Amino acid sequence: MISENTDNKFESASDVLQRIFNTDSSLGSELLSESDRYAAVTAATFPKPQYTRVIACANQKGGVGKTTTTVNLAAALAEAGMRVLVLDMDPQGNASTALGIEHASGTPSIYDVLEGRYTIEQVVQTCVDFPSLDVVPSTIDLSGAELEIANLDDRVDLLRNALSYYLRSSGKKYEYIFIDCAPSLGLLVLNALRAAEEALIPIQAEYYALEGLGQLLKTIQLIQMSYNPSLRVAMMLVTMYDRRTSLSHEVYEEIQQHYPSLLLETVIPRAVRISEAPSYAQSIISYAPRSAGAIAYREAALEIAKRGVASRTEQ
Ligand code: ADP
Ligand code: MG
Repeated sequence: MISENTDNKFESASDVLQRIFNTDSSLGSELLSESDRYAAVTAATFPKPQYTRVIACANQKGGVGKTTTTVNLAAALAEAGMRVLVLDMDPQGNASTALGIEHASGTPSIYDVLEGRYTIEQVVQTCVDFPSLDVVPSTIDLSGAELEIANLDDRVDLLRNALSYYLRSSGKKYEYIFIDCAPSLGLLVLNALRAAEEALIPIQAEYYALEGLGQLLKTIQLIQMSYNPSLRVAMMLVTMYDRRTSLSHEVYEEIQQHYPSLLLETVIPRAVRISEAPSYAQSIISYAPRSAGAIAYREAALEIAKRGVASRTEQ
């Protein structure tokens, strides 16, 4: 009757932890380090930028994590006390959905802003989970915008003009403005890259990860030369990283080799909870605050916050 289990009654909590985690179980050590990482990143001070950082999250490939990255970085920064604005520039409106923002067809949105019917101030909403996070929603109506604005003289400048008018006239101040781009290199994306100073490129850790990246960088360079000299490709973030596959690691290494100064150290793991959160109209930060995905997005946000301050000081 006397088994090892009876002895365990007398083990102290720390003995139990040691017994469980100081084995070769990689899950155990992962769990331990995850709770350490959670504690560290939630206690960290996020440096405030001296100026508003406008970051367009762009990649003409669909499904690489642009929207997920926009939404969760924005939420992580808002949680850390920053004032954040998200501009949803994708007719799919996935960023609006994920932040719980009303965006049924006909809702006043970025579409009306681009076409001059409303100002940003008239369409902006605030995220329920984060009082310092504002969102300009997009609706499916935006899918008609590219054609409708194609003949306007200032067609590339519509977003930039609307944004600078909003910031001047509303008295609103933000530390970060994120623009979630559609998966294309069309007029809507041009508007986003014209309005932004920094491009953040999420790259999915998969076999064709780098395909199309050259074209994207060339487009950004063209925009830089002809429309927006202050735009720079500032950051790349590897998403859907699966630590069990060597492919994920190889993709990371390859990007690091080509773009060492752009690639963020943090990688975003592939995690079911990240993909579940939008169906609850939530970011991963509010939906599963202690999950691996939430920790990673906070760490990425912190890295971005630190980089911004560092790069300004260098100049
Ligand atoms: P994009 O905006 O580039 O089209 P999304 O952010 O919408 O890409 O992501 C594409 C799909 O992958 C979505 O269903 C999303 O929930 C899922 N996804 C994104 N990041 C992760 C992740 N780290 N782990 C698991 N699923 C993810
Ligand atoms: Mg998207």
